[in-house]
Amino acid sequence: MQDNGWNDFEIGAMLRSFDGAVSDIANTQQEDRAYSSSNSFTASVADWRIEKPVFNKDFCIDCQFCWIYCPDISIIARDKKMVGIDYDHCKGCGICVEVCPTNPKSLLMFIERADEDKALTEWPSKEEK
Ligand code: SF4
Ligand code: SF4
Repeated sequence: MQDNGWNDFEIGAMLRSFDGAVSDIANTQQEDRAYSSSNSFTASVADWRIEKPVFNKDFCIDCQFCWIYCPDISIIARDKKMVGIDYDHCKGCGICVEVCPTNPKSLLMFIERADEDKALTEWPSKEEK
């Protein structure tokens, strides 16, 4: 596909999400889909963030709340198990952290430049009620 700027398009132009024919897209993992260059999936928004969520699998109960609520489909889950975060598309909104029900939370926000291994060593302990 030819690359165009946003103002090169005719009013009413249609942008296709995928190149070529699409079949069984629901059962095709994101990384295996033939997204077209006009699809937002091909663009990274990582530099929009000032904070990022860090995942601590030790506390995760695989409830999938983060996956359901993430507005950017940036939670990676496989076979109903939380796997991690797609940092190319996560915008750092923090909703996944808000909805995580564990104690302590299995997702916490850290500054964007934080080292993830170090962040895991700074994880809070269980909060007594
Ligand atoms: S911070 Fe926001 S965009 Fe990023 S994974 Fe969490 S809910 Fe999704
Ligand atoms: S919301 Fe928290 S406990 Fe539930 S799957 Fe996500 S990280 Fe795991």
